[in-house]
Amino acid sequence: MPEIISGTAISKTIQSELKEEVAALKGKGVFPALATILVGEDEASKVYVGQKIKICEKLGIESMHFHLPTDVPEKDLLALIDRLNSNTKVHGILCQLPLPKHINADKVLLTLSPDKDVDGFHLLNMGKLLSKKNMKEIEEEGMYLPCTPHGIIQLLRRSNIQINGAEAVIVGRSNIVGKPVSLLLMAGNATVTICHTGTKDIGEVTRRADILIAAIGKPKFITADMVKDGVVVIDVGVNRLPEGLCGDVDFANVKEKAKAITPVPGGVGPMTIAMLMVNTVKAAKKLNH
Ligand code: NAP
Repeated sequence: MPEIISGTAISKTIQSELKEEVAALKGKGVFPALATILVGEDEASKVYVGQKIKICEKLGIESMHFHLPTDVPEKDLLALIDRLNSNTKVHGILCQLPLPKHINADKVLLTLSPDKDVDGFHLLNMGKLLSKKNMKEIEEEGMYLPCTPHGIIQLLRRSNIQINGAEAVIVGRSNIVGKPVSLLLMAGNATVTICHTGTKDIGEVTRRADILIAAIGKPKFITADMVKDGVVVIDVGVNRLPEGLCGDVDFANVKEKAKAITPVPGGVGPMTIAMLMVNTVKAAKKLNH
């Protein structure tokens, strides 16, 4: 039987560690606070932001929420971010993506203060990640790591899955998952291969994987014939089907060959939120006001 890696359970452990840190910070007069910005009425985005606010409450992190209309002018959004950048009561700022088409997301991310960029998407934080050679350097730099990739690393580490020397294959090369998780795995000494729509024979590559990360956005894309026996599978995909949520991995069949596998829901999702909280507490410590 494979180990089912529970992101729900691991994220609860991280939350209880954070709750203590938040209480200690408050004792020193620092009240960690996260500002969330939601533009428009995207239902999935509303759910994600709602979950983040709920976990803030649970951990004693203050949250302030700004819900802007879909047609908000870009300059108004940038002005709000400017105000939050200089508000000393705010430690972390999260602008939920995707944004409506008339807003330039790159401009928004560049407007965020890198010191408050708890999503880890600012080019400066991305660049820092790119420039570090190993996990020790990354940890010493104290940068904000992007939440989903960092959550994946925590899932592996806390499940005692060895990254050092592993053959890691990632399907998907997005800026928020595929690319940054490849850098983190490489920093952890894995040999990393990334597949995408230009890959000729994905199965031929994924069958080499000791650790397989699926971040594609296609339900049940990874089938049992695409993995080797004993693989560790991390399924990042969140696909909404009429019968419910489903990952990028054919869980029922792939789990028969896997040593360990994450479920959807209850795998990577809760870890993404937990790592946002980690970054918010880090921001409060760093800014120390
Ligand atoms: P994305 O930006 O759409 O990127 C998808 C990647 O998959 C792209 O690199 C694309 O290749 C590749 N791909 C798509 N179809 C493919 C195919 N047929 N063959 C090979 N490669 C293919 O998606 P994302 O933002 O990384 O998200 C991926 C999934 O993870 C989504 O389901 C998303 O909802 C989920 N997600 C979950 C969390 C969480 O916290 N649980 C967080 C973020 C994302 P090209 O680059 O060649 O187009």
